[in-house]
Amino acid sequence: MADIDLFSVGKTFTGTPALQDITTRFDDGEFVALLGPSGCGKTTLLRILAGFEEPSSGRIRIGTREMANAETGAHIAPENRNIGFVFQSYALWPHMSVRRNVSYPLEIRRLSKSAIATQTDAALASTGLEDYADRMPSDLSGGQRQRVALARCLVSDPCAVLLDEPLANLDVALRASMQGVFTDFHKRTGATMIYVTHDQAEAMAMADRIAVMDQGRIQQFDTPQILYERPKNRFVAEFVGRGTVVPVQEFKHAGDAHLARIFGTEVAVQSAQQEVQVSHVCLRPENLTISENGDLRSKVARVTYMGGKYLLETVTDCGARLFAETRARFDVGAQLGLTITTPWAFLED
Ligand code: ADP
Ligand code: MG
Repeated sequence: MADIDLFSVGKTFTGTPALQDITTRFDDGEFVALLGPSGCGKTTLLRILAGFEEPSSGRIRIGTREMANAETGAHIAPENRNIGFVFQSYALWPHMSVRRNVSYPLEIRRLSKSAIATQTDAALASTGLEDYADRMPSDLSGGQRQRVALARCLVSDPCAVLLDEPLANLDVALRASMQGVFTDFHKRTGATMIYVTHDQAEAMAMADRIAVMDQGRIQQFDTPQILYERPKNRFVAEFVGRGTVVPVQEFKHAGDAHLARIFGTEVAVQSAQQEVQVSHVCLRPENLTISENGDLRSKVARVTYMGGKYLLETVTDCGARLFAETRARFDVGAQLGLTITTPWAFLED
C-alpha cells in the first residue's frame, strides 16, 4: 500500500493537451473519484498511472518508487507496477471459466498450485462469486462479469486499484448494488481505489474525495461536502449539484461577516476570501427561501417532484434561472418571492 504522487504531469496527443500540469496526491487507502465531463482527461490520467501511457511532462511516484519521469525517460512497465485495472468493458477471457479468469494472473507468475487455489478462493469470496466459479463469462449478467473483473484484479493483491467507469454499461438498479460491492470491498481491504466516473451521484455516494476535472486539469480535489458547499470556481459550482452562479456587484467585509450585493440587494455570504474581493456567488436550493414577500420576484418555470419535496426552476424578473426546493406544491407560472440566505462566494479565476 502506498501514496500516489503526481508532479506537474502533462500529456499531449499530437499537439493537443489531454492533461495539463497535474500535481496532486492520492493518499494510501483512500477511495478517490475522478469526476468530469467526457474528454476531460480521466481515462488518460488513469492510463498514465497504470503505465499504459507515458506522461509528456512531469513524474509519478507510488510509495517510494518512481514509476515514470518524462525528463529522464524512466518508465516502469504496467506489469511491474502492482496496480489493478478494471475497465468498463470487463475484458474477461471468454474461453476461460470464472475461476480460471481470476487465477490466470497468478498462473502467469508461476505461483504454486496451492497458493493459486487459496488466493483465487479468497478473491472469489470477497466479490461474492463462490457459486459461480465454474461458469463461463457468457453465462453471467453484466454485474456478475464486472465482479469477475474485480476479483481478477484483486487476486494479485495490488497496491492500488484503478477503475475506469466500471458500471457505465449496467442498468440503474444494478449500478446501485454494484456501488456497494466496490465500497464494501474498499472498507474490507483498505486498498487505494481510484474510480473514474462522469456521474456525480456515483462519485458522491462512493468516494472519500473527488477530483473534479475539466479540460485536462483538476479543478478542485475535496470531499463531496466541501465540493458542494465551497466550490472554488464556476465549473465546480455548476458541475457538482444544482446551482446557479451569479456575479457579485459589490463586496464588503464587515467584521467577520462578508456582504455581497446580488441582484441589487445586499446579502450576507460565506467566503474563503479575507482580503480579496469575491466575484461570484453560487446559489443552491438551500440558499433560497420561498416567501410571499421575498425581495426577489420570480416565476415558476418548471416543477419536478423529488420524493417528499418539489424542485422548482424559477426565472427572476431580471432573467436569472434559480433552483428552489419546497414541500408545498406550486404550479408552473406561479409568482413567488425568494430570499437569499448566506450563499457561498468565490473569486472567479
Ligand atoms: P475522458 O476519459 O475524461 O473522457 P480521455 O482521457 O479519454 O477523456 O481523453 C482526453 C482527451 O485526449 C480527449 O480530447 C481525447 O480525444 C484525447 N485522447 C485520448 N486518448 C488519445 C489517443 N490515444 N490519441 C489521441 N488523442 C487521445
Ligand atoms: Mg474515459
